[in-house]
Amino acid sequence: MVDYIIVGFGIAGVSVTEELERRGKTYLVYEDSSQKASRVAAGVCNPVVLKRFTMAWRGGELMDGAISFYKGIEERLSQSFVDELPVLRRFNSVEEENLWYEAADRPVLREFLSENILKNKNEGIGAPFYLGKVHKTHKVALSQLLSSYMAYMKAKNSLIEEPFVHDDIEILDNGVVYKGVKARHLIFSEGYGMVQNPYFNQLPLVGNKGEYVIIKSETLRLKEAIKAAFFIVPLGNDLYKIGATYDHQDKSKETTEAARDKILKKMKEVLRCEYTIVSQESGIRPTVRDRRPLVGTHDTYKVLHLLNGLGTRGVLMGPFLAKQLLNSIEKGETLEAEYNINRFA
Ligand SMILES: Cc1cc2nc3c(=O)[nH]c(=O)nc-3n(C[C@H](O)[C@H](O)[C@H](O)COP(=O)(O)OP(=O)(O)OC[C@H]3O[C@@H](n4cnc5c(N)ncnc54)[C@H](O)[C@@H]3O)c2cc1C
Repeated sequence: MVDYIIVGFGIAGVSVTEELERRGKTYLVYEDSSQKASRVAAGVCNPVVLKRFTMAWRGGELMDGAISFYKGIEERLSQSFVDELPVLRRFNSVEEENLWYEAADRPVLREFLSENILKNKNEGIGAPFYLGKVHKTHKVALSQLLSSYMAYMKAKNSLIEEPFVHDDIEILDNGVVYKGVKARHLIFSEGYGMVQNPYFNQLPLVGNKGEYVIIKSETLRLKEAIKAAFFIVPLGNDLYKIGATYDHQDKSKETTEAARDKILKKMKEVLRCEYTIVSQESGIRPTVRDRRPLVGTHDTYKVLHLLNGLGTRGVLMGPFLAKQLLNSIEKGETLEAEYNINRFA
């Protein structure tokens, strides 16, 4: 008997699990490595939309809570996963520089956008115009965090590494039984894997494939992330992640030559250094038609719940939404209409 069964251990799954730990609840997690979005994500926690210089959904409001949430996980696991990582926006024109100044003057963005723009000093980067600096952004080493958390759960027999089979759930009035284990509640956090879930797959999860190219360059020596046509995110040891692409048609798991060519072509005028391509990665973002998360409880089966739809900025939104979902389950609090799945009823 456990309080919760959780299906899927990406950003959504770890957000729920850690929140349950903090509330002293017992749980059992199922994870089968079928989806990779959280594993391949660069883990940038940034509240600003750098295409248009606007605030992302709830961006400013969620930043501090998200960072302190991951720091709490660092404490629990006695390991370091979170680093401050400033982001530099490479401007393409004087107009963009002027737009930045205007945006940096807006009260919601003032805290995050530098009021002065900077001249590029890195010879490995081509930047004919100036750079704008975003403050307070962080990078969470997601793959390491998830692996360490899985080892922690394994040690206390709270993790089962196999596919969860939806047909084998027995639903009771006061819980579920799955393979002989009874739980009061079951939370699905399967990312794009939700399309196989008969209880929730009528929700409009679209899916959007993203790919990164990983390069090695000893001369680039970047300390900040750069946002040009794509992001360049330093990983340490002279390695950099470059991407990511967006493709809402291809749902295959393999990396593609087309994405690699697109990234390298666009970055030709940005990268002015020698580099070698080390690898390529891909994952499917669990995006939703209306671009809002999917959080809530099944219409008929009140013991089945969902945390999904973290298409982008999952690092920022996951901890907040997990808290809201558990408050609704445990305390009967009403979920906000904007992300409650009942908006699609
Ligand atoms: C290339 C790329 C770059 C990105 N960069 C960033 C970034 O820098 N910052 C940011 O905030 N966001 C980023 N994102 C978005 C981010 O990855 C998502 O918001 C987030 O990973 C979604 O997390 P999730 O837990 O909902 O889904 P997932 O990460 O897909 O996790 C779902 C998990 O459920 C498991 N699962 C599914 N079905 C089953 C089953 N039946 N049984 C057992 N286990 C199951 C899967 O194996 C998987 O581990 C990026 C996404 C991509 C693709």
